[in-house]
Amino acid sequence: MSDNSSDPVAALAAVNARLKAATQRPVTLIAVTKTFAAERIAPVIAAGHRDFGENRVQEAEAKWPGLRVPGLRLHLIGPLQSNKAAEAVALFDVMHTVDRPKIAEKLAEEMTKQQRRLDCFIQVNTGLEPQKAGVLPADADAFIKACRDDWKLPVVGLMCIPPVGEEPSPHFAFLREIARRNGLDQLSMGMSDDFEIAAALGATHVRVGSAIFGARR
Ligand SMILES: *Cc1c(COP(=O)(O)O)cnc(C)c1O
Repeated sequence: MSDNSSDPVAALAAVNARLKAATQRPVTLIAVTKTFAAERIAPVIAAGHRDFGENRVQEAEAKWPGLRVPGLRLHLIGPLQSNKAAEAVALFDVMHTVDRPKIAEKLAEEMTKQQRRLDCFIQVNTGLEPQKAGVLPADADAFIKACRDDWKLPVVGLMCIPPVGEEPSPHFAFLREIARRNGLDQLSMGMSDDFEIAAALGATHVRVGSAIFGARR
């Protein structure tokens, strides 16, 4: 995309400028740091950026305790195993991948135990992909209701990852519609290749990795 990839601070500024051009609304840019070492992330924190995303609890545990500064928000954007719920609640500030009863129940239990409340996004499998995480669209309303009423999770919005190789717009619009009918106003959608489209379609959070840090090995 650009050879800013050698300078993540410059690349982040470029992504922010593109976001501003795509929408007037404020959008939280989550800088996705999975696979990148602490030395590569530190300059971005020093430049004042505060929202970061990781997709694995174990990798985040190894990297983030040493990087944290006040006001930093760490977002879990990858699938959570229930045996990692305690670590996830201790380390992260926002969960983007709540997608099944077992995880919802475990998160609720850990938040109570640790006296921490993490904003929760429910992941929806908008493309009905068998291998992909996320609640199926047909089950989304009931699951959202259960997360709120049964497990008392602080549900703030929905998240999706459109199928690779498909036009993402219909998925973003579909997610927005499910959120609207459930009274949710936050949408975590859009990655390096499609964050401007997502922003134009109502994203409140975009998750951008390679456009900031360069290609992952
Ligand atoms: C890796 C990842 C991203 C960022 O992907 P890029 O294409 O590098 O921007 C966003 N969301 C999720 C869930 C991811 O796992």
